[in-house]
Amino acid sequence: MRIVDFILNILFPPRCSYCNSEGDFLCTKCISRLSITRLQNYPRYYRRDKEFEYLDGVIYGVDYAENPQIKSAIQQFKYRFTESLAEVFGGLMAKKLSELNMNEGKINVLIPVPLHKKRLNYRGFNQAELLAESTANISKKTIVLNALYRTRHTDQQAKLSKRERQTNLKNAFIVNKKFVQADNKKSVFFVVDDVCTTGSTLENCAKTLKEAGVEKVYGLVVARAFK
Ligand SMILES: [Zn+2]
Repeated sequence: MRIVDFILNILFPPRCSYCNSEGDFLCTKCISRLSITRLQNYPRYYRRDKEFEYLDGVIYGVDYAENPQIKSAIQQFKYRFTESLAEVFGGLMAKKLSELNMNEGKINVLIPVPLHKKRLNYRGFNQAELLAESTANISKKTIVLNALYRTRHTDQQAKLSKRERQTNLKNAFIVNKKFVQADNKKSVFFVVDDVCTTGSTLENCAKTLKEAGVEKVYGLVVARAFK
């Protein structure tokens, strides 16, 4: 635990981000009420109106719409690093990876959606990286690779329309090819983020990876916000 979190926990004892009960950022009651759907064996989860162009599918822990407690917990997680939430979220994603047998004979390579240095300095941590690490701690044969970088500072996606989101991210990522090519055949690649809303961020990351020669790229998120 970082010192700053330790101090924050004393000054502001954790409360459930959803029901406000004391003790943790997501209480056991709210966790036990999670609605988790078993994913089909073929993880191509598309928007109904449009298929993803680069992503081979998006694997998600839960649906946002059915789990308001996850929504508030993710918002909490974005602004303050909390180890217990990282464990809950990592657990949800790891469960899906094993349910779908994603790494049969292969290594799962989790690539966090990168933050620009500016925002990383401001926030102090990249939540996608923490999610990837916590998933890898639970999953077998799974590693985290920081293979993507931001080429420039982009506007926050949440503030933009769908069309603006796509332009905003155009060529925003570059990949460290050395990392990716070394593992390509023996690995399955996942771009990790907290939420998938329109999929623009994951799509752009997948595009960058595929242009570097990666064959299959999936998205891996805690929650999906589309149906
Ligand atoms: Zn609660």
